[in-house]
Amino acid sequence: MANVLVFAEARGGELRKIALEAVTAARQLADATGGGDVHALLVGAPGIAAKATQLGTYGADVVFVAEGAEFATFARESVAATLAERAKAGSYRAVVIGFSAQGRDLGPRVAAKLDAPIASDVTEIAASGDTLTVKHPGYANKVVLTLVLSGPMAVISVRPSAFTAKENAKAARVEVVAAVPASTPVVTITEVKEGAKGRPDLGDAPIIISGGRGLKAAENFKLVEDLADAFGNAAVGATRAVTDDGWRPHSDQIGQTGRQVSPQLYVAVGISGAIQHLAGMRTSKTIVAINKDKEAPIFKVADYGIVGDVLEVLPAFTAAVREARKGQG
Ligand SMILES: Cc1cc2nc3c(=O)[nH]c(=O)nc-3n(C[C@H](O)[C@H](O)[C@H](O)COP(=O)(O)OP(=O)(O)OC[C@H]3O[C@@H](n4cnc5c(N)ncnc54)[C@H](O)[C@@H]3O)c2cc1C
Repeated sequence: MANVLVFAEARGGELRKIALEAVTAARQLADATGGGDVHALLVGAPGIAAKATQLGTYGADVVFVAEGAEFATFARESVAATLAERAKAGSYRAVVIGFSAQGRDLGPRVAAKLDAPIASDVTEIAASGDTLTVKHPGYANKVVLTLVLSGPMAVISVRPSAFTAKENAKAARVEVVAAVPASTPVVTITEVKEGAKGRPDLGDAPIIISGGRGLKAAENFKLVEDLADAFGNAAVGATRAVTDDGWRPHSDQIGQTGRQVSPQLYVAVGISGAIQHLAGMRTSKTIVAINKDKEAPIFKVADYGIVGDVLEVLPAFTAAVREARKGQG
């Protein structure tokens, strides 16, 4: 029986989807060890405490809340210090965080402070007695590594969408804790640039419409935007060829050197399917590819393929989605 600490990521006063997925992963791990407790740490600007009960709905037994004006942006050093302090205060077998942009920053800092092993980008966690075993895709998802984590405590960051958030209601006790200030702050956040307004973040979006060089010109991304609008809850992604050419911002890039996503539906528009792109999206639940070349590698990972010119297929696709969603919000 082992207790697990989980970092509940929030942004803009809201819990992120990865927070609920991390709580679900932590719950599974605690249950697998014979029913330990899940403790969540929620850090945010004043008011974030209102979100604590939601973590109980997904399986947290205790929620520690640290509020502070500095957390309006991601005060990385203070968040890491607060999480490490909390981890030291309890006897936890593991600290679970999301493998998001915040989690990638936080995980190694916390592992170093705890002198604990870290496994990043984890898609499965198993426990047998005292042994923790995790799976982590490597080499652009070509292989799956099985890692055994030794030591009394381990840090595990879970891949977004690898664990589906499941309700598992607990009457979570909420406890306010003090944030630990960074001892020697070396990073100051001077500006935060918001992504595209009105669209979900790539990491949270259930649907992603992603465009490649097959769109021929930056202005043709309007067709990708139109399809995303027709679905209503879709984000727009791109290949590196497109972001390198300046058609889309780098923040839209999906792949080995961009974002790693795993939505319910990924629509690849005019994308060849280079291994570096597949590294960021091949774990999507359903993949639809549109390409004029029927031999394009993207069709090897696609569940549905449309062979045709994107400039003709996209408007028809968008019209069909609009028709199917008529009357829905
Ligand atoms: C170290 C390294 C890291 C990299 N990291 C990434 C990364 O993170 N993400 C990433 O995406 N790439 C990455 N790349 C680049 C990657 O290798 C590919 O070059 C890139 O993904 C290709 O983008 P693309 O599919 O848009 O373009 P192309 O490979 O040029 O493919 C365009 C596709 O569009 C099709 N097409 C053309 N016209 C039409 C039309 N009218 N209708 C329908 N289809 C059409 C073509 O048949 C073709 O399949 C990386 C490369 C390296 C070396």
